[in-house]
Amino acid sequence: MKQLAVILCLCLLGCQKTKSKSAPKSKDKTTTVSKNEFAAFDELFKKNPSYVAKNFDFPVGKPNAKGYYNAQKFTENNHLGEDWNGRGGGNSDLGDAVYAIGNGYVNFAENLGGGWGNVIRIVHQYNGNYYESLYAHCDTIMVKKGTFVSKGMQIGTIGNADGAYYAHLHLEIRDDIFMEIGGGYSTNTNGFLNPTTFIKSNSN
Ligand SMILES: [Zn+2]
Repeated sequence: MKQLAVILCLCLLGCQKTKSKSAPKSKDKTTTVSKNEFAAFDELFKKNPSYVAKNFDFPVGKPNAKGYYNAQKFTENNHLGEDWNGRGGGNSDLGDAVYAIGNGYVNFAENLGGGWGNVIRIVHQYNGNYYESLYAHCDTIMVKKGTFVSKGMQIGTIGNADGAYYAHLHLEIRDDIFMEIGGGYSTNTNGFLNPTTFIKSNSN
């Protein structure tokens, strides 16, 4: 419950606003991962090798985020992701397509309410490592947990978390795929990557 309150609080502050005084504590990030947890994903991708990621692209404005801009960058105001907005501003991007950034496995797809709204989490196996992409505040979810997706496939639409913000896509990329959803903001960036840097340096 406490965690929920933190999420709610942080997210009601808005993805676009400054100052998250009480950054969520991130504990037990790396300590509890057992070999078995990776083994399950190893098995999944071994059986479905065509869904191993080969490269990545931005989740909006295919290709290359055309027509969109990053309104709140990674670590700006302790932001753990990026806020992708249509160049038209306001809610002009409400309902626009959200694409999988790479081939992967849908590990989570549901409405978390609060400041998160609809969230999709995709696990990517890439160059022998695992990454997660997380898409939040979606208006609609078009994929189901437990299914595979290809790079560029539409997985949902841009939303506003039931009116909590102007429509935008909150995108996170993590190199620890076993972390909890968290609060979207923290001074501790362990397990989180700069999405634009990651996508650009792995776009081919
Ligand atoms: Zn955000």
